[in-house]
Amino acid sequence: MTLDLITIPCLSDNYAFLVVSPDGKRAALIDAPEVAPIKKVLQDRNLTLTDILITHHHADHIDGVEGLRTPGVRVIGAKADAHRLPALDLMVEDGDHFDLFGQTVDVLDVSGHTKGHLAFYLAASGYVFTADSLMAAGCGRLFEGSADLMWASLSKLAALPPETLVCSGHEYTTSNIRFALSLEPGNSALISRQSQVAAMRRENMPTVPSRLAEELSTNPFLRANLSEMKTLLGMADATDAESFAEIRKRKDRF
Ligand code: ZN
Ligand code: FE
Repeated sequence: MTLDLITIPCLSDNYAFLVVSPDGKRAALIDAPEVAPIKKVLQDRNLTLTDILITHHHADHIDGVEGLRTPGVRVIGAKADAHRLPALDLMVEDGDHFDLFGQTVDVLDVSGHTKGHLAFYLAASGYVFTADSLMAAGCGRLFEGSADLMWASLSKLAALPPETLVCSGHEYTTSNIRFALSLEPGNSALISRQSQVAAMRRENMPTVPSRLAEELSTNPFLRANLSEMKTLLGMADATDAESFAEIRKRKDRF
């Protein structure tokens, strides 16, 4: 069964997510950019917060943790990053899994944006929480990891079932698509995604989460391994990771 998912806009362009228990009374939070909007949703829906899952150490993903932590709330994050995260009740690493409302959460290390960046995958609900690794039509900047590391991380996410909902951390989709079109102006899936996203943003609707299948057809960072992409980059003989590195470099300058 699919657990209910609530997307909560925070700060200027961040997203936090709540996953709701089957009885509709409890919720787990993925990332805590700030306290107020999350508290408001919990109150409005009469939800008790039971867990806070942290993807990575950046302030715009953890600053709300202490203000939301109450006795009994389980805070879960990367063992490798415990020294720079709020106090953890459960430390996890790649390959670990834990129970959430009767469903298994698989922990994936998706380092690259930071080292120790985690993604949380709920196979039974078809959700993956990717924060600043795989994003809608983009990926996070490489602040701590190498291009090789990020490519390996994105490849893990790309291998999930295509119907998976990618719950990423920011509303960057409009500018991500503008960049993607500069590389692949003839990608028809990308062209139609641009008009869909523009329509959603006009209504102030989040463009996150997005379907993995759509990312595979439009996100240039997931398309680095395709020979047509390598040809567009003028590097037909490059490895997948080299092609990814070039796309990331061009995006940084875009
Ligand atoms: Zn970040
Ligand atoms: Fe972020």
